[in-house]
Amino acid sequence: MKKGLLILGVLIAFVSCDNGNKPAQTSQTTNKKNVVVPAFDGNSAYDFVKKQCDFGPRVPGSDAHQQCAEWFVETLNGYADTVYIQDFKARVYDGKVLDGKNIIAAFNPTAKKRIIIAAHWDSRPFADNDPNDENWKTPIDGANDGASGCGVMMEMARVMKDNRLDNTLGVDLIFFDLEDYGAPKWADESLHNDLSWGLGSQYWSKKQHIDGYKAYYGILLDMVGAANPRFPKEYYSQSNAAWVLNKVWRTARSMGYDEAFTNELGDPINDDHIYMIHYAGIPTIDIIDLNGDEDRTSCFFPYWHTVKDNIEQIDVKTLQMVGNVMMKVVYNE
Ligand SMILES: [Zn+2]
Repeated sequence: MKKGLLILGVLIAFVSCDNGNKPAQTSQTTNKKNVVVPAFDGNSAYDFVKKQCDFGPRVPGSDAHQQCAEWFVETLNGYADTVYIQDFKARVYDGKVLDGKNIIAAFNPTAKKRIIIAAHWDSRPFADNDPNDENWKTPIDGANDGASGCGVMMEMARVMKDNRLDNTLGVDLIFFDLEDYGAPKWADESLHNDLSWGLGSQYWSKKQHIDGYKAYYGILLDMVGAANPRFPKEYYSQSNAAWVLNKVWRTARSMGYDEAFTNELGDPINDDHIYMIHYAGIPTIDIIDLNGDEDRTSCFFPYWHTVKDNIEQIDVKTLQMVGNVMMKVVYNE
């Protein structure tokens, strides 16, 4: 993903300008009484992140990408009620057509009320934000940028298998492909197009895996594994899905995670949630580490789109925190 441009902002209908501090509607905030939230194991989530990295960079078209897809499908088949594979073709920034694969792991597939947790599973072919320009054409491991969110979802799947959700609630874990193939910084200006990012989510958001599919809301996880993350309220999430943001932030802060889940408004980010909101009409938020500062070259976590976005950046504590929040949100739904 990359920082969003204003053009994306105008694509989206702004439905709310809530500043995030107002209490939301009672119907959206009432927690179930005495609900048992099953334990999420941060170490297991870490192993799922490492497993993805061990395949090598999951660049579409590569063997590692193919092998990782097979592993996701096989493993998820052991956890979820139904696994859907959505194959698609997408034209990337330079005109090449690549094969993509969105993977959807459904729990309680017939339940009408559904929520989505999503992340992208491909990794960027270019480390074009690396301080050393000799690395710019090197594909990245994407331990944080991609694999971390998928690792949290894999652990959720493992836990949800043995701790059945209430049968009125369906959960879909969506692993989007081809999120991070956007034009590299050396590409000609004419090739830089916001729509060159999020190709898997664009495809799914226009044509879901089931006809007439609907979801109550979605949560996108992106870069949720580095130490000391900072998740401000991402701009488009706040503008389009403030009530989801409030629900999740309230949960996180009630668990003592105020330092990570801050109350500030974050930058607008061009990420998969944009298309889920705009094309599929699903209010979706992006939990994304915007831990950049003025000395850095991006608003993202320090090793964003560099060769150092590898397993060394992954902190079990962060995965545990995000997993705890996701489990509490889901099991209280
Ligand atoms: Zn990225």
